[in-house]
Amino acid sequence: MSHTVEKIALKSPAPGTERFLTVHRFGTIGARPKVYLQAALHADEWPGLMALNHLIPMLAQADKAGRILGEIVLLPYANPIGLDQRIGGAMPGRYAFDGAGNFNRNWPDLSTAAAAHIPQGFTGDANQDIPTLREALRKAVAELSTRTDIDHWRAQLLSLSIDADYVIDVHCDQESLAHLYCHISHVDIAKRMAAAGDIPIVLLEEEAGGFSFDDCNAGLWRRMTGLVDKADSLPMACYGCTLELRGKDDVNDVFGQKDAAGLMHFMIAEGVIDGEASDLTGPDPFRLDEVDVIYAETGGLIAYKAEVGEYVKEGQLIAEIIDITAADPLNARTPLVSRTEGLFFARVDLRLIPAGEGVAKVAGRKPLAHRKKGALLEA
Ligand SMILES: [Zn+2]
Repeated sequence: MSHTVEKIALKSPAPGTERFLTVHRFGTIGARPKVYLQAALHADEWPGLMALNHLIPMLAQADKAGRILGEIVLLPYANPIGLDQRIGGAMPGRYAFDGAGNFNRNWPDLSTAAAAHIPQGFTGDANQDIPTLREALRKAVAELSTRTDIDHWRAQLLSLSIDADYVIDVHCDQESLAHLYCHISHVDIAKRMAAAGDIPIVLLEEEAGGFSFDDCNAGLWRRMTGLVDKADSLPMACYGCTLELRGKDDVNDVFGQKDAAGLMHFMIAEGVIDGEASDLTGPDPFRLDEVDVIYAETGGLIAYKAEVGEYVKEGQLIAEIIDITAADPLNARTPLVSRTEGLFFARVDLRLIPAGEGVAKVAGRKPLAHRKKGALLEA
């Protein structure tokens, strides 16, 4: 009975302009489990805007009925700075124009700053140590630099997310099936989430690298080891995931409604919302080193030979890159093949590909030697 909507002012980027975050809160502040959801951190990824737009009234209704057992904090749009970045009518998203880099990389590692607030060490009892670390994390976030508008914005998001049990960061790929990334230790939660949301692909990271938003929130629980006495007994008490709700153009009410219902089902299964959850078994997950990312060594026009969602064989032709400078178009094609057997689940939406572009992703069942650990799916 406590749905509230709050505006959080962001630092003004220029005289006469203002930006703000909209924060929806459901349930009881301080109640557990706490869920934090946000959409479109990369700004140009809009399926999550639609999903959370459908989720808000569902949560409001559940709240009215007294069914929210924990606390839910929802940001219907995470990145007003990125939403404001337009060039020639397009919203490129992903990178900050001010040079601060990828909006979903280089989030701070709060472990050392949090450790400084726990000089007495942990007790070895998770019931005591989890609240202790959460309190230290809130203090560490309050100490973050807010010098630039991006610094200030990042600190606001973390102040809302850092003590959550679940951090659900909703993104999308370019042309893609729904999939999600999380740490390998959270495989069971991820499988339930995938089952609840009809998400066919779960990708497990050991050391994701890049300091994405989900890893900033979840990964620090394991990064406390060695910094605070008895930290090795800490559970990973924050499940962080990057939920990719298909491709950029998959923005419609049908998907929005379905994805919102899936998130509701998941939160019921996790005891955040009261209700009946059906059996959530989930798909067999993939490890990141089992995902082939197929690169175009040279740039050119692309002709796809396989469709997203297709099960492909090792060696199967995925696309051809056409050299449009060639004198003879009949001798100007470079094949791109899958190096694994598996599900072709994502591809770029560009049709004129720059050299070096990661064109396609295929999730298979064998570890691939060419995949680099700690580089997400970027190498
Ligand atoms: Zn993204």
